[in-house]
Amino acid sequence: MKLTCFGRYGPYPKGGSATSCYMISHDGKNVLIELGCGGLSKFLAQYTVADIDAIVLSHLHADHMGDMLTLRYALKVAQINGSITKGVPVYCPDKPKTEAGMLAADPLMDTVPLCDGYRCKIFNMDVSFAHMPHPYESFAMRFSADDKTFVYSGDVMDNDRLAVFAKDADLFLMEAALQQKDVHSKSAHLSAVRAGEIGMQANAKRMLITHLFPEYDERDVISEVRQHYKEARMIEENKTYEV
Ligand SMILES: [Zn+2]
Ligand SMILES: [Zn+2]
Repeated sequence: MKLTCFGRYGPYPKGGSATSCYMISHDGKNVLIELGCGGLSKFLAQYTVADIDAIVLSHLHADHMGDMLTLRYALKVAQINGSITKGVPVYCPDKPKTEAGMLAADPLMDTVPLCDGYRCKIFNMDVSFAHMPHPYESFAMRFSADDKTFVYSGDVMDNDRLAVFAKDADLFLMEAALQQKDVHSKSAHLSAVRAGEIGMQANAKRMLITHLFPEYDERDVISEVRQHYKEARMIEENKTYEV
């Protein structure tokens, strides 16, 4: 499996960049993970709509799915010009109803609702999902193929479940949206310090950090993650990683 990053910011992009948008590729199939604002532009700089074999969304906050709404138009045009002949499978939560309804109503998006513990085969990858605490219903996801495992946290409030779900991942993509100075008791996201700690508890072989707040200096975030997980790195846009 290979992981490509098209967008890494949240909850809004840095100028010229994109919010959460990744792609896991395996056996000639491309599965988009999140399609945040600016992600479609970054994706289309290298691929076409016909290259999207499936989409997985951790949750329906706009910084993770905003460009799904524009993708509807691109899919329609691709159908008219014959470059696609059927809808794209979209694995996503079915809440909140407003956002989920917009996706489910599109004839070229075949939505599959997620629930805690849901397991499926997406092409030649075994995929499982775990519900994570966040203001919108959110899921961490685990992809396995050829004895390699990739785990993505999605957006997540601090909890003890994520480290268990991510156990022994070869590559762990983890959000670390907050520096310690901005953490409070009701934070909707992980702090960089906790992200590092969870990566260690999970025994992840490699860890990439994402959901970078555009007003932060990424070096400050990474140095906080490295208090616990020394080799953590910030994911980079337009870069591909072997799982
Ligand atoms: Zn987010
Ligand atoms: Zn969110």
